[in-house]
Amino acid sequence: MDDDQNVKETVKHNIAIVRERIAKACRRAGRDPAEVTLVAVSKTVDAARVIRAYELGIRDFGENWVQEAAEKVPRIEALSTWHFIGHLQTNKARKAVELFDIIHSVDSLRIARAIGKAAASLGKEMRVLLEVNVSGEFSKYGFNSEDVSAAVGDMIRVPAICIQGLMTMAPVVSHPDEARPYFVKLRQLRDRLQVEYPEIAWQHLSMGMTDDFEVAIEEGATMVRIGRAIFGERTKVNQPLS
Ligand SMILES: *Cc1c(COP(=O)(O)O)cnc(C)c1O
Repeated sequence: MDDDQNVKETVKHNIAIVRERIAKACRRAGRDPAEVTLVAVSKTVDAARVIRAYELGIRDFGENWVQEAAEKVPRIEALSTWHFIGHLQTNKARKAVELFDIIHSVDSLRIARAIGKAAASLGKEMRVLLEVNVSGEFSKYGFNSEDVSAAVGDMIRVPAICIQGLMTMAPVVSHPDEARPYFVKLRQLRDRLQVEYPEIAWQHLSMGMTDDFEVAIEEGATMVRIGRAIFGERTKVNQPLS
């Protein structure tokens, strides 16, 4: 087998395993696997491998950096959905709105306004999720759980954005089950916001990564963001800042 064939076989195998694990987690939770979107996180993964994943049926891709995505998005079929999952700076908002279909990582009113402004000028309505720092770790972006409700009150008036739910990253833990309380917290926050702001659909909970996605599904995730379990360990260490 040549290298390319090897890569394809590995990615194919990985995708099959991840899909099976998603199906099993859904079965345990009495959920329909169709409710859970597998977002393949392709940060640091070159376009050729992203194309292999597309050929293997992946239609949702997640990227953390606008500049990196700008090189890949135009090369992959227009039929795919691109999810922005990194921290977004206001000066990159316009480019992000151009490239992406949904932004998971709205973590301030300021960035929501920048996204809305860019989307309005591009004649687009941008789907967004609000990132919540449920663990309260200093190293993480996202609204504090206590601040989300007030932020939604402001954001609801921002034109050209469509709020669809919440996103979080659980802390790094030694056993996936230890991440469960954070996922429960995000779901309960969503439930409260649903009562407070019934005019918003709140249909998405973006939570769960390679190390904890099954637990996240058991707790209601509708989008899981999975990188390493599909593409293997990331080798690049020096990431751009945005
Ligand atoms: C990198 C990243 C992921 C994917 O992480 P894996 O551990 O490779 O599955 C998911 N979400 C966010 C926000 C990320 O930055």
